[in-house]
Amino acid sequence: MANILIIGAGGVGRVVVHKCVQNREVFEKITLASRTLSRCETLQREVGVDNIDIAQVDADNIPELVALIQSIKPDMVLNIALPYQDLTIMQACLETGVHYLDTANYEHPDSAKFEYKEQWAFNNRYKDAGVMALLGSGFDPGVTNVFCAYVQKHYFDEIFEIDILDCNAGDHGYPFATNFNPEINLREVSSKGRYWENGEWIETEPMEIKMVWDYPQIGKKDSYLLYHEEMESLVKHIKGLKRIRFFMTFGESYLTHMKSLENVGMLGIKEVEHQGMKIVPMEFLKTLLPDPASLGPRTTGKTNIGIVAKGMKDGKQKCIYIYNVCDHEETFKETGAQAVSYTTGVPAMIGAKLMMQGIWMQKGVWNMEQFDPDPFMEELNNQGLPWFVEEL
Ligand code: NDP
Repeated sequence: MANILIIGAGGVGRVVVHKCVQNREVFEKITLASRTLSRCETLQREVGVDNIDIAQVDADNIPELVALIQSIKPDMVLNIALPYQDLTIMQACLETGVHYLDTANYEHPDSAKFEYKEQWAFNNRYKDAGVMALLGSGFDPGVTNVFCAYVQKHYFDEIFEIDILDCNAGDHGYPFATNFNPEINLREVSSKGRYWENGEWIETEPMEIKMVWDYPQIGKKDSYLLYHEEMESLVKHIKGLKRIRFFMTFGESYLTHMKSLENVGMLGIKEVEHQGMKIVPMEFLKTLLPDPASLGPRTTGKTNIGIVAKGMKDGKQKCIYIYNVCDHEETFKETGAQAVSYTTGVPAMIGAKLMMQGIWMQKGVWNMEQFDPDPFMEELNNQGLPWFVEEL
């Protein structure tokens, strides 16, 4: 029976709290801490004051985090704040000897570049301290990594190519809004694309490569090649891989708005002077855009995220498509959050559950595809994210 500390009370944090409460047989004591206490209070009222404790914390501040962890004495911390807090929370967990999990890799607030280097650098110190960090336990990264490990284990002797395909066909009725943290989302989408082929990274202009994919239960959608973080670990851990790419769907309206905002400098992450004040354009834009957490009640439609893997089995070529379909209105009914938060929060809970049950427990810093995928895949079916396999 585990005592856990969840940090971050945004859209994803909401789902993690609901799902951990649904799995009380594993999570005996739950504390939710975040920067704004009122968001924790709202969630505490929803799930019942007897079910979770709450606290306020600035997760950029290591001594504050250490003091909070020492007072709660959790078995693990679930970092559901922003990627900017990964290193401070990892450091605080190391200092207090507590296991760690997150859903997105570290990103420096001043450069729109995310990579695992600084988190992987904790590996030896985590091993020496006898604690574990599980990186990227969301959907992508997260479930997509587990899908790759699953097809590698059950369908292939060797995988040559993987395409990760992420479609959100949800409609929230706004001309422009992002369905998770706008700053993180827009930084990701407006960056150059990158994919891996024959041992090297190939860079593209933003949105340069487009294909149309027919997503089951949704239909045909324009899908654009982006760089996405799970590729960095998958190229290390999937044997024989010659190419890996990541595609995400975007509608015309989203792309036109984003391009216009970029053209006038509103996606800038450097401070500018405005009437004697210093402001960061992207942060100001975040203030203007709808809070992703408020999209839940208005969003209809579905997400479909999966992988297509090509390779060899018993001397024959094979192509396997494995995916999940998630309905925005159904996830809202269950947790008060739309499907993008749901598909991230459920795997975060599952990762924590497997760690606390000792099923996925190893000292050091780990990516999702390094563990046996079967228990995770079984939990996905049981916890609201069923998956389908097709041979193409
Ligand atoms: P939100 O912006 O909705 O929520 C973030 C929460 O973290 C807010 O409650 C915020 O507090 C809190 N927070 C931010 N900074 C601090 C800080 N310094 N100290 C304490 N708390 C802080 O984001 P989401 O819920 O949409 O996303 C959460 C995470 O999930 C992100 O890392 C995101 O990148 C990741 N993600 C991963 C996906 C995946 O598939 N792997 C997909 C989607 C998201 P406040 O309320 O004060 O703003």
